[in-house]
Amino acid sequence: MAVFDHIEFAGHERVIHVADGVTRLRAIIAIHDRTLGPAVGGCRIYPYATETGALSDVLRLSKGMTYKTALAGLPFGGAKSVIIADPADKTPELIRAFGAAVNELNGQYWTGEDINFGTADAEVLASVTPYVLGRTKGAARSGDPSPFTAAGVFAGMKGALHHVFGSSDLAGRRVAIQGIGNVGYNLARLVTEAGGTIVVSDVRAESTERAVRELGAGVATPDAIFDELCDIFAPCAMGATISEETVPRLKSRIVCGAANNQLSSPQVGQMLLDRGIAYAPDYVVNAGGILNAFGDFSGDYDVAAVLPKIEAIAGTVGQILEGSARQGRPSGEIADEMAERVLAEARARVMKGSC
Ligand code: NAD
Repeated sequence: MAVFDHIEFAGHERVIHVADGVTRLRAIIAIHDRTLGPAVGGCRIYPYATETGALSDVLRLSKGMTYKTALAGLPFGGAKSVIIADPADKTPELIRAFGAAVNELNGQYWTGEDINFGTADAEVLASVTPYVLGRTKGAARSGDPSPFTAAGVFAGMKGALHHVFGSSDLAGRRVAIQGIGNVGYNLARLVTEAGGTIVVSDVRAESTERAVRELGAGVATPDAIFDELCDIFAPCAMGATISEETVPRLKSRIVCGAANNQLSSPQVGQMLLDRGIAYAPDYVVNAGGILNAFGDFSGDYDVAAVLPKIEAIAGTVGQILEGSARQGRPSGEIADEMAERVLAEARARVMKGSC
């Protein structure tokens, strides 16, 4: 399979295929860029239909991690890994075989939670390698990243609301949440606690039922959520749900959610801009989890130090949306340029230091 010519290759430093005959592990680890520090990115378990599909996903997600850590001000590079498997077939042996491959990288790559890979899996991983983020066991561990990711998305919403309406107040605002899983549920709770109302969709009925019961949510079907009249549309399920087909249906002024790679193509960013919908770039607003996990890396986890950094996402979103409005260019382009500037400055410092 061609990697260097892949459309998503984007100058990756290393792309490693891992196989294990005993556990039937098939995984790809993609390390995009380590200019800012060791590369970090979660491990996703997903039954990709093809290896090409898995490669495209891991490359896109890995580059997104480089930009995410750069704009979050973290001393981390970007990476990601995918295990090609049905999550129902996940076993401790499979995870340990993957962990052995992570361990061989000697700290070039740190991993942790992602879709179908939870905190319990992170603990299994930690039995074979120390390069694990989002651990729950032991003193001063960062734990489940999802509530912190939700807090970051919530901060992003406030930044976007301030840009669009001149007030960051959620009271009286209606938010449509697509995917009411770990992040979506925590986000829904924050919105309702702030006086907002929510309408949710999920492919799992038990998830929407819980949101109705506990948070008084309205429910839309997974398809009808795009037609909901609301202030904010929050994609918190899978990527690429904001597309040429769905943008014309949106009835919100803001798109701000946790899912990675929400836009199906860069052109969709221009479509959102043309429709006057402010898009808070995904990798900027979903950085709360990695900001929280930093303590597992540095060994001095302190939640009080993390929360102001997560709050600061509001300001970053405001800055990006202002730049987008001023320049008449999609917010994703503005965010990418800001991240590239952070990386260029770091490279320049390294060059200067080595002269
Ligand atoms: P999750 O698996 O707990 O929740 C996702 C939810 O989306 C599930 O309830 C699932 O049933 C639902 N879903 C799937 N397809 C759907 C569809 N077509 N329509 C509606 N609902 C659908 O995952 P999560 O941890 O909450 O993460 C949500 C998103 O945020 C993912 O894209 C993830 O990559 C991203 N993200 C998560 C974190 C984190 O800390 N958990 C951090 C950064 C980014």
